[in-house]
Amino acid sequence: MGVRCLSLDPSGDTPASQIADAVQGRLDDAGKIAEIFSRCERVTLENEFIPAAAIREALGLSGRPTETLVPGVETLAIIQDKLHQRQALAAAGVASPKAVPLDDGGAMAREEIGFPMVLKARFGGYDGKGTRYAKTPEELELHRPLWEGGGWLAEEFVPFRRELAVMVATDGRRTVELETVETIQTNHVCDVTFPARLGPFGAADTQGVPTAAVRAVGGIGLFGVEMFETMDGRVLVNELAPRPHNTGHYTLDWGDLSQFDHHVRLTLGLDFSRSAGADVLMANLLGQAEGPPLEVARRALLEFEPQARLHWYGKAESKPGRKMGHINLVCGGDGAGALERLRRCREVFQGWTG
Ligand code: ADP
Repeated sequence: MGVRCLSLDPSGDTPASQIADAVQGRLDDAGKIAEIFSRCERVTLENEFIPAAAIREALGLSGRPTETLVPGVETLAIIQDKLHQRQALAAAGVASPKAVPLDDGGAMAREEIGFPMVLKARFGGYDGKGTRYAKTPEELELHRPLWEGGGWLAEEFVPFRRELAVMVATDGRRTVELETVETIQTNHVCDVTFPARLGPFGAADTQGVPTAAVRAVGGIGLFGVEMFETMDGRVLVNELAPRPHNTGHYTLDWGDLSQFDHHVRLTLGLDFSRSAGADVLMANLLGQAEGPPLEVARRALLEFEPQARLHWYGKAESKPGRKMGHINLVCGGDGAGALERLRRCREVFQGWTG
């Protein structure tokens, strides 16, 4: 798009600073955030953990109007606190698991949620870090050292038949929902995504739920909305991400505006159109304890499947379980066959020869 970018980066070797100028500093340093506000026409973020308080302070320091940031800081503040997020959804009548604070010795959780329940850290959780299950009162007690000090919630366990996700783009007047995808999580981490209608349960009827969820938090910009679909087809919102999301990576190869195009367009206040592209499946590439060097893995993959698109983020360090990249595969109609092929692509990349 010809846009010049400046990023705030905690270290000098992050993916963003490989391709754009960077200000080096902690993501909660109001002075550094203020520098970004002062030097940029528009500002956005790619993780939701930059404390809203630091952003408010930075807006004050820089004297820039709140609209400089997309999404807005008040939306961000709601999303940063998982309990606040649940309450905002409930207040707007958007179905979501019932949640209560876990800070009174657990009495409210036992009475209002019951077992099994899910315990979540209200702030800072991602990829299941900060999520625990308690099937019985004894298990709730076992986790007591974690939650006793405060900052946790308890919510109802949803026996879902599948997890769904939709990217929502909105400028406050017009809203578009991109493809509904099914996401399969392994150990709380997104493993693969594919268009829900190609999966075993067929098309999902999310009935405007993703848009309603984004409205419930006053959202402007691009949002990933994660949902549960119950056995009887009801849809509950799990959580929102105010940014490009893992479950929207398929749009990089679907041939129309990608989620990143949408993100930049919304941040700049440019028009955006409904996007619909090819059917694309995505598999995450997580860091492994052992595996072939990147050059070997890349060659093996691209020779095995010319249609595979490798997206490698260039993170400085690989750690087991860390999201290092992903593979997209355009599917020719046969969802199950393509999913099997995609998984095989990943095995080839990771050096499984068997
Ligand atoms: P994080 O923010 O760490 O990604 P999530 O709330 O998205 O945490 O939870 C991660 C995964 O844990 C979900 O994708 C889902 O598989 C499972 N999970 C979370 N909440 C519930 C719930 N209330 N009932 C059943 N499973 C849940």
